[in-house]
Amino acid sequence: KDTEQYDPRVLEDIEKNVFFTKVDQLKAWSRTRSFWPLTFGLACCAIEMMGTGGARYDFDRFGVIFRASPRHADVMIVAGTVTAKMAPVLRTLYDQMPEPKWVIAMGSCATCGGPYKEAYSVLNGVDRIVPVDVYVSGCPPTPPALIDGVDKLRQKIRAEAKGERVTNG
Ligand code: SF4
Repeated sequence: KDTEQYDPRVLEDIEKNVFFTKVDQLKAWSRTRSFWPLTFGLACCAIEMMGTGGARYDFDRFGVIFRASPRHADVMIVAGTVTAKMAPVLRTLYDQMPEPKWVIAMGSCATCGGPYKEAYSVLNGVDRIVPVDVYVSGCPPTPPALIDGVDKLRQKIRAEAKGERVTNG
């Protein structure tokens, strides 16, 4: 429509106070503000994950609230060594999480087997059984590294909602 028929002050007001977005982008934005990770501590990395939830790093301030049930969770933070024996349990818990859901591989064990990758009993990366969205490097990664990983996941979800192609970081 021809905007000349409107009062310029109204148009200016609209420009300053109204923004347009797609529903998908709005949903993605709101999801990235309230991650509920499933606690999946498997080894030493889990100590750093727990430390991230403590008073010093205060994960809650980013809207990250740990859940004890997969039914309530939308992010799985795999923190530690995934053994062959634990792999089917991890996959079952992943399947029990409702969509949409994401996975963060925390530390070198979860990413590629870490120092135990030659061991017959250790999986060389959790991405062999579940799709991983973000890899956080370190042995173990520090709490700030995990917070950065969550931030990367946030960026990935927002970019995907805009239809941009994103590689796993
Ligand atoms: Fe432990 Fe290092 Fe493996 Fe983390 S990556 S679980 S700190 S050995």
